[in-house]
Amino acid sequence: MDIVNHWIGGSSVAGDSTRTAPVFDPALGTVAREVRLATTADVDGAVAVAKAAFPAWAETSLAKRQSIIFTFRELLNSRKQELAEVLTAEHGKVLSDALGEIARGLEVVEFATGFPHMMKGEYSENVSTGVDVYSTREPLGVVGIISPFNFPAMVPLWFFPIAIAAGNTVVLKPSEKDPSSSNWLAALFTEAGLPDGVFNVVHGDKVAVDALLEHPDVASISFVGSTPIARYIYETGSKHGKRVQALGGAKNHMLVLPDADLDLVADSAVNAGFGSAGERCMAISVLVAVEPVADELIAKIASRMSQLTVGDGRRNCDMGPLITKEHRDKVVGYIDIAIEDGATVVVDGRGINVDGAADGFWLGPTLIDAVPTDSRVYTDEIFGPVLSVVRVASYDEGVALINASRYGNGTAIFTNDGGAARRFQRQVQVGMVGINVPIPVPVAYFSFGGWKQSLFGDTKAYGADGIHFFTRQKAVTMRWLDPSHGGINLGFPQN
Ligand code: NAD
Repeated sequence: MDIVNHWIGGSSVAGDSTRTAPVFDPALGTVAREVRLATTADVDGAVAVAKAAFPAWAETSLAKRQSIIFTFRELLNSRKQELAEVLTAEHGKVLSDALGEIARGLEVVEFATGFPHMMKGEYSENVSTGVDVYSTREPLGVVGIISPFNFPAMVPLWFFPIAIAAGNTVVLKPSEKDPSSSNWLAALFTEAGLPDGVFNVVHGDKVAVDALLEHPDVASISFVGSTPIARYIYETGSKHGKRVQALGGAKNHMLVLPDADLDLVADSAVNAGFGSAGERCMAISVLVAVEPVADELIAKIASRMSQLTVGDGRRNCDMGPLITKEHRDKVVGYIDIAIEDGATVVVDGRGINVDGAADGFWLGPTLIDAVPTDSRVYTDEIFGPVLSVVRVASYDEGVALINASRYGNGTAIFTNDGGAARRFQRQVQVGMVGINVPIPVPVAYFSFGGWKQSLFGDTKAYGADGIHFFTRQKAVTMRWLDPSHGGINLGFPQN
């Protein structure tokens, strides 16, 4: 059986641990390989390597760092098909979607190539007579990144290119469910000329996470995952004196006004609800229909869903399996809860015909109407191909519902009324808003992150926030005596 090792100091390392976890091929339902689960000593070793690499990397000129990142971008772009295949085999998402994920990650690498512009400080001359003040931005040191299973390439790519560009060294702890993409990316960065020890990958579970959170030489933690773990990461990392950004779960609503183009809405709801089997933090999971549109809209959505093909992501299907059998069973459990709670299952994804192996972790697209807002189907993040419909009487009722959610990651409004869209953009308590766009993931030069329990910390991922998070500002006050000093004065300079 293949085993996924750590990547430390520019090469594959087995480490100390005797513990491993199975990595599945979700479309086959079989164990494809094992992944090592690091001990605290393994994490300490990786952090020590990253710490040793930091001074030279931080001193490397901006031009040299920029050229290595540029080479990494070129290599990644030319070999993205290879990475997509690695990703589909472990995650299950269809190949075209894996390529889409890599494209969004590549955008961040491209943004990172321009980092010298973003790192520039400010300068004020003669703030007091003969005194100038300027600021610089400096790297933090060793930074930790902890990523989820659902975007095994894109989420690490949200962080490490910017962290490394800014002069930090990195220890990445990817999801143990689909670990191979991270090693693939690290090996590619080495090929691009990145010095050994600048980018390290340690595989593991809570043991490795806790070791990073508590390590005195780890300056910051960037986390993406479910809300309970994000809260734990934020609290524990902060307690250990680290800078923390912890992106959590989501429940994204799409508000449909009666004047919307219902064919556009139906296409968007199907794409955003069932793409990547609903395992996206920006998936639409609740459709809020302002009456009287619900019946017509549901009919249009159900008809599109009947055309979706589910199967092995390596074949030409629309939707792949879920990540594990346990997760599939948990998502199926929500369909049972919906029925118990009096909702109507319009399209039931259980028992769907698939173009794939019998033991794959399948669940077909599922549409549930009239979901009560006190049902766990509405309140919980399901993270699967289940789209709920909630019917409301007015725009105001719809906005109030969205704003009452404990999550605030993404949302969308569909309407042809510009005034209503503008009002929604201003009133809605959510961090990323789409107007006739179902999955409003900001491009790399904006920043990604939600509000409320979808993000703990005040700094979003990538864009200007990314540069800000991975650097700290230094302000310098400078005076050169010309021609002489002004004598003793115990007060602050006034002029
Ligand atoms: P998860 O929270 O189970 O795991 C995320 C990471 O935390 C993994 O590396 C995992 O090994 C580690 N982890 C798991 N349990 C832990 C524990 N008890 N202590 C310490 N570390 C632990 O999330 P997941 O299932 O891998 O990913 C799906 C979740 O991620 C969803 O909730 C989704 O909404 C969220 N997500 C959010 C965003 C965003 O930008 N807000 C993006 C992608 C995914």
